[in-house]
Amino acid sequence: MEHVDVAVIGAGPAGAVAAGCLAGKGKKVVVIEKERFPRFIIGESLLPRTNDLLDKCGFHKAVEQAGFMTKGGAVFIKGDKRERFNFDERFGDGWDFAYNVPRADFDMILAQEAEKMGADIRYRVKVDNVEFHDDSATLSCSDLEANSQYSVSAKFVMDCSGYGRVLPKLLDLDMPSDLEYRESLFTHVKGDLRPEGREEGYIWIVDLPQGGWIWVIPFSNGATSVGVVAKPSVIKQAGESDDEALKTLLLQESSLKERLGNMEFVMPAIRIDGYSIGIKKLFGHRWILTGNAMEFLDPVFSSGVTLSMESAYKAQDVVARFLDGEQVDFQKEYSDYVMRGVDCFRVYINAWYENKLGWLFYSKRKPQSIKERICSVLAGYAWDENNAYAIDAASSLEAAISTIPPEYRN
Ligand SMILES: Cc1cc2nc3c(=O)[nH]c(=O)nc-3n(C[C@H](O)[C@H](O)[C@H](O)COP(=O)(O)OP(=O)(O)OC[C@H]3O[C@@H](n4cnc5c(N)ncnc54)[C@H](O)[C@@H]3O)c2cc1C
Repeated sequence: MEHVDVAVIGAGPAGAVAAGCLAGKGKKVVVIEKERFPRFIIGESLLPRTNDLLDKCGFHKAVEQAGFMTKGGAVFIKGDKRERFNFDERFGDGWDFAYNVPRADFDMILAQEAEKMGADIRYRVKVDNVEFHDDSATLSCSDLEANSQYSVSAKFVMDCSGYGRVLPKLLDLDMPSDLEYRESLFTHVKGDLRPEGREEGYIWIVDLPQGGWIWVIPFSNGATSVGVVAKPSVIKQAGESDDEALKTLLLQESSLKERLGNMEFVMPAIRIDGYSIGIKKLFGHRWILTGNAMEFLDPVFSSGVTLSMESAYKAQDVVARFLDGEQVDFQKEYSDYVMRGVDCFRVYINAWYENKLGWLFYSKRKPQSIKERICSVLAGYAWDENNAYAIDAASSLEAAISTIPPEYRN
């Protein structure tokens, strides 16, 4: 049987970050990925914080050279109300732009960079089972091309399998999400009439009066990602087929009708449901979970890839030090750290769906200093200890929201 230091399950952003960094530290790393890349996956609006992580991993130059659309912020729209968050007008240090990426291209670049650093990625191989022993784990894998099975022995397993959730399923770690059940319909379109100049790349998040919201994410290749997130009943009422329902919802609001009136779908609408999921714990004997293989909240603030890369970067650090014989406190150094970011976004997501965040967003009465601090979290700086709206998100937001007079709460 083949022996490696670390087996990484999945070559998405979390897997590429973990594998590239560990290989760069001289660890023998194998990545088992069931798809052939490039492959389509949703999650295309990145946050400025990902640029820090791309830098730390040595991936940024390759991403920069790919010429992805850059965005300087986000626009939230509700009827005739608009609120812009410009990343260069936010509290704290860090990046003031982020990329919008077709994930097929982005994930392939990251995986290629991880390979250049020495990670051995096996495409079209699926992890079926993992058995844990005192000082190692055995992964049973199916080679989907050769139609054969083989095993890999690893000193440590990093589960970066995203929606595959390999270890959560095998070890019974899944928990129901505390977020309501929602579904999403999305596609790519051509013919998007984009704002000109500085705001061309801005992501739009448009409220639907019947509940739910629409995203618009422009790419540099001329296509635009559009999608809706709502309760199943809202989507069902909008049309018989997925394409029809998505078109109806996309053209319902006047801001979007103007922008997308001439759009053409580049591919049929894709539906995903029940993606929000919780987790019992993030690590155990010789295993660790990162990215979507741990907890996934909701797409509204584009936090998914940021949390995946942040957790994977942190995880590879603790795993490398553990393998080097250091005493590592996985709870404090990994789990508590990662959950601080997840819990910060949870507060914002809950406040969004309770409509309270909207009161604050669209209120002209909020102080600029509050807006700058919220903007910093929306840029992915959810771990900033100097920002009360990050480290103490619940009470800070609650206090800010309580200052909005009742007549402005709609
Ligand atoms: C509707 C919707 C919209 C979203 N929009 C955004 C957004 O705008 N911005 C954002 O940041 N995030 C967004 N997300 C979240 C984003 O999709 C995820 O957070 C992100 O893809 C997670 O990255 P990852 O590396 O953890 O996992 P993934 O990207 O899912 O990668 C996991 C990899 O593991 C592989 N794998 C799975 N099972 C196995 C197995 N058994 N063996 C081998 N390989 C396996 C898969 O093939 C896959 O390539 C959105 C999510 C949803 C549901």
